[in-house]
Amino acid sequence: SYTHEVVIIGGGAAGIATAASLLKRRPLLDIAIVEPSEHHYYQPGWTMVGGGVFDAPVTCRPMASVMPKRTRWIRQAAATFQPEDNQLTLRDGSTIAYRLLIVAPGIRLAWEQIEGLEQTLGRNGVTSNYRYDLAPYTWNLVRTLRSGRAIFSQPPMPIKCAGAPQKAMYLSCDAWADRGVLGDIDVEFRNAGGVLFGVKEYVPALMEYVEKYGIDLKLNQTLVAVDGPAKTATFKTEAGEETVAFDMLHVVPPQVAPTFVADSPLAQAESGFVDIDPITLRHVRYPNVFGLGDAGSSPNAKTAAAVRKQAPIVAVNALAVLDGKQPVADYDGYGSCPLTVERGKIVLAEFGYGGKLLPSLPTWLIDGTRPRRLSWLLKSEALPWIYWNGMLKGHEWLARPQVKTAA
Ligand code: FAD
Repeated sequence: SYTHEVVIIGGGAAGIATAASLLKRRPLLDIAIVEPSEHHYYQPGWTMVGGGVFDAPVTCRPMASVMPKRTRWIRQAAATFQPEDNQLTLRDGSTIAYRLLIVAPGIRLAWEQIEGLEQTLGRNGVTSNYRYDLAPYTWNLVRTLRSGRAIFSQPPMPIKCAGAPQKAMYLSCDAWADRGVLGDIDVEFRNAGGVLFGVKEYVPALMEYVEKYGIDLKLNQTLVAVDGPAKTATFKTEAGEETVAFDMLHVVPPQVAPTFVADSPLAQAESGFVDIDPITLRHVRYPNVFGLGDAGSSPNAKTAAAVRKQAPIVAVNALAVLDGKQPVADYDGYGSCPLTVERGKIVLAEFGYGGKLLPSLPTWLIDGTRPRRLSWLLKSEALPWIYWNGMLKGHEWLARPQVKTAA
């Protein structure tokens, strides 16, 4: 068994950003990162891949290239937690002890909850921007479809990037309008939820695009089964089950806490996510455990944008706890969702807990509730660069936490 001062579970957006942020503040800190994957993905880019704007490989880098120097990378999956003993167990049965644990293994895509889906993904017109290998297939389908019915589904909350199901649809519609075939394609948005978007200020701008593209908006409809060869999808609706034929189906899978977290003492009873205080991001029962990113129970929009703010907050709070003090920084629930309403324009949703609007830039520069070209430049040019060179390196542009001084 090894002991490390800090152990981080997950080398995704949250794990790497937090490690980098900790090392910026305390360069000699002993950090181990538990991460089984050889690849690190910039998932926000997958919407752009599905829309034919980015090539898939620009969203993927070797994990080794994003691991901060001076961290120890443990190339394995975490399996169980023993927080009473300040210890966790890896999949191969070995154990690691820690003084402080940070849990950030993301969210699990539960493809298996939709009957018949897994065996037809990537074939028969069934696709999803939620997987690296499938996002290019979305663009293939969009490029070649000339007529018929295209269905875009959205599962019940919570999901990462709640706007992504409709982003895929708007970019597809824009491409079809461009080619002059939109009139021959029946586009349906079938959403398990009861509203188009959860923060009402953004809905009017989105509705303008729903109308402009002639999208049939169907709420309270949950995808439960897909028959690939027959090209039919079955939805559970308030009136019962409905089976409809499709030519293209873009699926967003139901999303749940990773099983090994949900089954552990760290889980929140109802949700299975890491049970953290939404303000300090510290575990509610284990004072030397923190959680952040998509795996956290905090009710923010699960986005990389949220991680950009959370990582420095966890870093300063974790260092305070290692020093025997209380957390010193508060998280306001900031998250962001750049809604790609057409190629070249974005409705930039930015909001915190309770749906409070939290624009990063002055509204005269970018009014987030309206489609803007500058927001598109932000998403297509600035944000990927900020992700790789800022967030993952511990540079905290527009994300420096307010640290409370001792009373
Ligand atoms: P992830 O980045 O998913 O990383 C989790 C890591 O944990 C992975 O590397 C995984 O291998 C590792 N892991 C899993 N299990 C274990 C284990 N047992 N042990 C150790 N490690 C483990 N966000 C935005 O801000 N803006 C957007 O426009 C946007 N669009 C999106 C579009 C799509 C299609 C998708 C899929 C996501 C989008 N997001 C967007 C969301 C964003 O990608 C996530 O919120 C972000 O990646 C969360 O970071 P994370 O570190 O919590 O999880």
